[in-house]
Amino acid sequence: MKLVFSKENRFEVIAMRSFLESHGVPSVLKNEFTSSVMGEVPFFETWPEIWVADEMFQQAEQLVAQVQSEIVDTDDWLCSGCKEENPSTFEICWCCGGER
Ligand SMILES: [Zn+2]
Repeated sequence: MKLVFSKENRFEVIAMRSFLESHGVPSVLKNEFTSSVMGEVPFFETWPEIWVADEMFQQAEQLVAQVQSEIVDTDDWLCSGCKEENPSTFEICWCCGGER
């Protein structure tokens, strides 16, 4: 088994896991409920993790990368020319007209 994805937000991990499964990559969820065992704060935070079989790892990694690049695409971007922030829908900078 290999670790393919881990995130502090459990819901993101669960969403990622169902995305992988919908693409034919079965996975195992680890550390799903670790944050409040017996009401104690754990010594170090353990994030939920998605593990996949070795032979599925490459495919799973590509799917994770695909999701993460889509997330980036919907984000605002910084102009490299003038450092102004632009909405994701803008193809050129509103401030200086520089390309994205
Ligand atoms: Zn600019």
